Amino acid sequence: MKSDMNRILVVDDESSLRLVLSEVLGDEGYQVTSAASAEEALELFEKQRFELVFCDIVMPGMSGIELLQQVKQHYPQTEVIIITSHASLETAITALRTGAYDYLLKPFESLDLIASFAERALSKVHLERENLRLVDELREKNAALEEANALLHELAIRDGLTGLYNHRYFQDAMITETHRSQRHNRVYSLLFMDLDDFKVFNDAHGHPKGDALLRDLTELISGRLRRSDVLARYGGEEFVVILPETDKQVAQELAEDVRALIENHPFAGRESQPRDKVTISIGVATFPEDGKTPTTIITAADQALYKAKHHGRNQVCLAG
Ligand code: GH3
Ligand code: MG
Ligand code: MG
Repeated sequence: MKSDMNRILVVDDESSLRLVLSEVLGDEGYQVTSAASAEEALELFEKQRFELVFCDIVMPGMSGIELLQQVKQHYPQTEVIIITSHASLETAITALRTGAYDYLLKPFESLDLIASFAERALSKVHLERENLRLVDELREKNAALEEANALLHELAIRDGLTGLYNHRYFQDAMITETHRSQRHNRVYSLLFMDLDDFKVFNDAHGHPKGDALLRDLTELISGRLRRSDVLARYGGEEFVVILPETDKQVAQELAEDVRALIENHPFAGRESQPRDKVTISIGVATFPEDGKTPTTIITAADQALYKAKHHGRNQVCLAG
C-alpha cells in the first residue's frame, strides 16, 4: 500500500517541523516530500500529484488557507491536513469549512497521532479513488449493455437475408398503424407482393443466386418508397408495404410504379423467366374500406394478390 499511492507533501516554513513530520511519516513507509512555502508546494504539484498535504497555516507569503483553496480547486482528490496552534483555532475551523480533511494542533502531543492522521486521510483518498473507478467501470458496462440491447432489438425485428423488417415487426406495425389511423380518422394502404415464378429462377440458377435477386429486388423497391413507409419481408419471396396516409388510388399508382420498375430492371439471369424478365404481382387493400383490423386488411390484400396471380401475374389488383 505504501507506494506511489501514498505521496505526502509537508509544507511548513519552520525547518524543524518539516523535519519531524518527514521523519515520522517516512518511518511509516510513506513517500514524503517537503516544501518551505505554499508557493514552492504549488510548484511541486505541477510536477507530480500528492495524495495528502500537511500544511501549516501561518507562513510568510501565501497562507496555508490559500494553499488549501488552490489544492482543493485544482486537485480535488488530494486531502489536506492543516497544522495550527491553539492560538489560531478559529482559522482551523475556517480551514475545515474550506475543505480541509482535519487539523493537527502544534506542538504535537504524540508522534503516533501524526501517523494515524495520515493513515485515515489516505484511506479516504483511496476509497474515493476506488469509488470513482467503480463508477467509471459501471458507466462503461452500462454503455456496452445498451449497445448490446440495441443490437439485439435490431436483430429481433430484421430479416437476416434482406435486412428488411421481418414478419413480427410487420404485424406490430400493422397494429400501430391501424390504431393511429382509427384515432385520427385517416386512411392507410397495404401492398402485398409476391415474385412471379421464383421457383423457376431458383431451379435455373440455384438458391444463392435467388437470394441475391431477393436482395437486389428489395433495394430497388426501398428506393421507390418514402421514409415513413414500412417495407417488410412477409416470408419467402413475399413482401409487404404499409403506406401511411395513402388512399387506394395513390397506393395503386405506387404499386404500378414498383411493378414496372421491376419488370424493366435488368436483373442478372432474368432470361430464365417465362416472360424473359423478373416480374412481381401486387395486391392492394386500404383501411378502412377493405377492413377495419390488421387481419382483415392483410387478408384483403392477399386475396387481391391471388387475383393478380390468377389473371396472369405481373400486374396490380385491388381489393374489393
Ligand atoms: P408464383 O408466380 O405462383 O408466385 O410462383 P413461384 O414459383 O414464385 O411460387 P412458389 O410458391 O411455387 O415458389 C416460391 C419459391 O420461392 C420457392 C422457394 O424456393 C423460393 N424461395 C422462398 N424463399 C426463398 C429464399 O429465401 N431464397 C431463395 N433463393 N428462394 C426462396
Ligand atoms: Mg411467387
Ligand atoms: Mg409465394
